[in-house]
Amino acid sequence: MDYGHARREKLERLLAKTGVDAMLVTSFTNVTYLTGFTGDDSYLLVGKKSAIVISDPRYTTQLQEECGSLERHIRPPGVEMVSAVAEVLTAGKVRRLAIEGNSMSVSLRERLAAVAPSVEWVTTAGAVESLRQVKDRGEVGEIRRAITQAERAFAILRASLRPERTEKEVADELEHNLRQLGAKGSSFPPIVAVGPRAALPHARPTAQKIGESDFVLVDWGADDRLYKSDLTRVLVTGKISPKLERIYGVVLKAQVLAIDAIRPGVTAHDVDSVARGHIEKEGFGRNFGHGLGHGIGLEIHEAPRLARNNHEPLKAGMVVTVEPGIYLPGWGGVRIEDDVLVTKTGHEVLTSVPKSLDESVLS
Ligand code: ZN
Ligand code: ZN
Repeated sequence: MDYGHARREKLERLLAKTGVDAMLVTSFTNVTYLTGFTGDDSYLLVGKKSAIVISDPRYTTQLQEECGSLERHIRPPGVEMVSAVAEVLTAGKVRRLAIEGNSMSVSLRERLAAVAPSVEWVTTAGAVESLRQVKDRGEVGEIRRAITQAERAFAILRASLRPERTEKEVADELEHNLRQLGAKGSSFPPIVAVGPRAALPHARPTAQKIGESDFVLVDWGADDRLYKSDLTRVLVTGKISPKLERIYGVVLKAQVLAIDAIRPGVTAHDVDSVARGHIEKEGFGRNFGHGLGHGIGLEIHEAPRLARNNHEPLKAGMVVTVEPGIYLPGWGGVRIEDDVLVTKTGHEVLTSVPKSLDESVLS
């Protein structure tokens, strides 16, 4: 099945408005999205009612398997990619060419200009990424699978957590569980942060033992085949202190309020403001130093960002994380993260790991 066909048509319509003859897609992730081809080192030229993959002989078989109906230009060994691109541009009579400003390096841009001097280059930003924001049914299904893998891996981990295990051992076990359950691996290196280390939103796992504090923050996700999931939970390993109860309650309320606000037409800014407003009202505004969430899909962080400076409205089919947090240096941090699908009438929370504080206590 050529599942990239409908997507390429959407891109063509987008390009028609800009008056270019074609677009050279150089982001490998965007090539995958538009073709189904999962290899690297290949570009895609999308023109009016035409598309051609530019690749090399290592990928001949894989291209046949993954997007066999697509036209391809296989550069022979010894022919540089830029020369192959120039050949394809000449054959396609491309005069005005859109390029991906977020992916093409300055040196590649210069080398291409040298081999195709008559082409006019039009730098674009985020064209394919804007299409990728709205997931089709198949993509949502793949994200659901990545979520199921992450949730099962976490349940297995939780059942075997012991106080003498280190952050690093727990993170490694989580990755192992994900692979055992059929995932390609983690969607990013898991964060396992004990007590005060949880105050670092991007803590790297260390030799610190799980039992050395009252709680541990785990931020993890699965990379199924192409699509990713992303969750965060705090597990209580000791006694629930009044401080943990207070902070956890504020974060959870902020997250629930923000999720409730998600529906088509509401801006990303407004959803962020709901969570931020609650955390500010409770006196922790300065301790929530990141955006509320981000899109997930082929990449672990993609558009749309749920952040103050994004005034774009949400659309049905977007899948975003909602992950408010409060971080207190020296004490620790609490973040709760779920993955949410924007539906035609509102939203669906795709993740289902229990998150009340009582349910987060390790027995
Ligand atoms: Zn996360
Ligand atoms: Zn996230």
